[in-house]
Amino acid sequence: MAGLYVHIPFCKRRCLYCDFYSTTLLARREEYVRAVVKEIGQRQHEAGEPVRTVYIGGGTPSTLEIELVTALTKAIDSTNIAEYTVEVNPGDVTEEYLRGLKELGVNRLSMGVQSFQDELLQQIGRRHTAAEAIEAVRTAKRAGFENLSIDLMYALPGQTMAQWKADIERALELGVQHLSSYGLIYEEGTAMTQMRERGEIEETDEETENAMYDYLCERLKEAGFRHYEVSNFALPGYEAKHNSSYWDGTPYVGVGAGAHSYIRNVRSWNPDDLEEYIQGIESGTLIRESETLSETDLYNEQVMLGLRTDKGCRLSPSVDRRLTVGKLSKKGLIRVSEEGRVIATQEGLHVLNRVIEELMI
Ligand code: SF4
Repeated sequence: MAGLYVHIPFCKRRCLYCDFYSTTLLARREEYVRAVVKEIGQRQHEAGEPVRTVYIGGGTPSTLEIELVTALTKAIDSTNIAEYTVEVNPGDVTEEYLRGLKELGVNRLSMGVQSFQDELLQQIGRRHTAAEAIEAVRTAKRAGFENLSIDLMYALPGQTMAQWKADIERALELGVQHLSSYGLIYEEGTAMTQMRERGEIEETDEETENAMYDYLCERLKEAGFRHYEVSNFALPGYEAKHNSSYWDGTPYVGVGAGAHSYIRNVRSWNPDDLEEYIQGIESGTLIRESETLSETDLYNEQVMLGLRTDKGCRLSPSVDRRLTVGKLSKKGLIRVSEEGRVIATQEGLHVLNRVIEELMI
């Protein structure tokens, strides 16, 4: 079984922390969707396996009118689809729009809430309010969605522990089935990084960030969520099938500007430029870069991705188990399961990149 990722790069405005590829050229949506429909037609079966999960992400897919999502959906072979997710911005959704998605077969929504605090939402440049986020989740439920994921951010400048705890409680109270949570990263070149450099905002210290993360993990566990990936939590049975396939090596085809694909040890990606993408698809001359992963790359990849999950990773015989594993276990950063898989502990998750580096070859 394979996954299909559809990238919609449009955003009404840029969030101040974002370094993803996206554009505010909303006037190009129709011609873009035409190109993506064409690419879906050409490539959706490229993995040689039936498509089981579809994920329309961005950018902001909910900037597309329902007619455009319909055009995308019609192009997708829906025979074997078990999970069909669309990312939505809480500021865009109406009950009518969400009902429209439901009718198209979308059975999972991922909502970029980020915070339930207006001052924090403003500070990071989100265009929705806390009230809109709450209403959007309720609207999604009224529209019949029973598999809802929201994103929440922590370690935002000035964010207090009390605000963070209140956000988590709000998410639980709203009854979402899945939560993705990320600490703010100051990516190079973003507006927030420049604000930090000018001394206008202060970065959250590591101790507070770790305390926020630990609280999140504990509270969600207590509420019955499985912490199945470093940043992802789900009620039993609601783990994201599509995202899980990225972590376990399932092939996926990515269509749209900047989208990545992974099929039989080859990773390829479309140009992350709207013009180049549309022109390339329309004229049949799109140049897709690619790389073939070596045995070592594949091993390192399964360490990197596996350690992010609660299933952990296998170790290569060339890793000195006694030395490396012994050292990391002694520090309380990893544990070894009965099947011999290496799994990061809560302490290990705080310094995951370091742990990963030690176990790579
Ligand atoms: S909506 Fe998402 S993709 Fe668009 S600017 Fe904000 S964070 Fe980036």
